[in-house]
Amino acid sequence: MGNGSKTAVGYVRTSGEVNPSHSIDNQIKRINEYCRDKGIILREVLVDEKKTGTKVEGRDAYKKLKNLIDNGLINLLIITFFDRVGREAFELVGILTTLKNKGIEVYSIEENLNISKMSPLQIAIIALQAEHENKNRAKLIHGSRERSKQEGKYTSKPPYGYRKDQNGFLVKEEAEAQVVQKIYSMFLEGKSLKDIYTWLNDNSIPAPDNKKWDVRKVRIRLLTKTYVGRWYASPKKSEKNTYEYRLISDKEHPSIISLETFEKVKEILETNIKKTPRKKHFHFLSKILICPLCGEKMQAKVPPTNAYYCDKKACDYKGIKKEVIEPQVLQLLKEQGEKEEEYYEFEEKRNTQSKDVDRLLKKKNRLEKKFALAEINQEQYETEVNHILTELTYTKEKEQKSMTHEKISYKKYIQPIENNDLEKVKEYMLRDKLTFTLSNNSKVKEVTETNI
Ligand SMILES: [Zn+2]
Repeated sequence: MGNGSKTAVGYVRTSGEVNPSHSIDNQIKRINEYCRDKGIILREVLVDEKKTGTKVEGRDAYKKLKNLIDNGLINLLIITFFDRVGREAFELVGILTTLKNKGIEVYSIEENLNISKMSPLQIAIIALQAEHENKNRAKLIHGSRERSKQEGKYTSKPPYGYRKDQNGFLVKEEAEAQVVQKIYSMFLEGKSLKDIYTWLNDNSIPAPDNKKWDVRKVRIRLLTKTYVGRWYASPKKSEKNTYEYRLISDKEHPSIISLETFEKVKEILETNIKKTPRKKHFHFLSKILICPLCGEKMQAKVPPTNAYYCDKKACDYKGIKKEVIEPQVLQLLKEQGEKEEEYYEFEEKRNTQSKDVDRLLKKKNRLEKKFALAEINQEQYETEVNHILTELTYTKEKEQKSMTHEKISYKKYIQPIENNDLEKVKEYMLRDKLTFTLSNNSKVKEVTETNI
């Protein structure tokens, strides 16, 4: 250390820690202080936040870190604890060994450890310790929450109508419970959500947040199944537009609404979603349609909004009727999707290549585990791992080449088009950066790099 020309990258992550000194902010602060003290150039601090899994997938900053390492762009990695880098021992051993082999120094501030001065055995021990501590911590957190739930203790904020007693069990908050019952009975009398919140506000009944009632606040009460006397999670809306509930605890608490009443209300609410008409003023080609005269984006913003117009004021293009253009675009997308389904042979070929990568990564993991468990020595490990890495690079390159030939996938458009879910279609089009324009005879065509 002490060499001023060192370029370092810091890496911090958390997985919902209980210890505040392990918070992201604190970790970053420590790394900054350390680099300032030692005169090290800190290139950046990579942050992986609130990812709980033990798997590498999904850790974006970690992937970036791997990239920097693989391309030899750093010569010092600074972390706060060794377990920040990898959770499972074999993963950690693999990473630390790679770093050591590449001549990259790793320094852990809290443990005051420098990996370049450690033997493979010491690395393995550190890794196993880190894994052990991680597992214990996870068990502790998970254990106490689970136990409370099993006992029927309410670990969240109690729903309006209830409060927690000193043991954490739900008891009725009488005045609120009556409001809840009133909401349900008004709804079953056929009153709308608006009728209900207006009545509540007119009678100066404060909403759960002590402000005014609105549609959303009334609907939440009507969808809270915990009122039937058991603790349920918030509902998830299924694809068939039904509300699905998950029971959290078997322990009973005083009910505010009978199960029968609740189910009746739920059924009406579900029927209502299905009847809700599609948004009338949804123009799914706004900003996707390109003016055939000037190349500017088109929008349906001018009333009566039954046509798309060019955004540019000075442009002469008169616009195109929605009923003319929209079905054409949908037709085009659907045709492309159907054509693509015929090409599934190509798709299958791509999948087998991904499986190759999977297989190699698994092989690498097994090898790292063997090394961590001292079933093979470092020499055997290095020989094997280099072999796998070479094969992996080759396979990935091959895959990339075939990927670049691949165009946008249109298959996914078929389903939403058939369901007339234009919002979904638009979401996909924006994600795929699709744009359309019109030819001279008002026929639609996709804008591609070749026909701009
Ligand atoms: Zn124009």
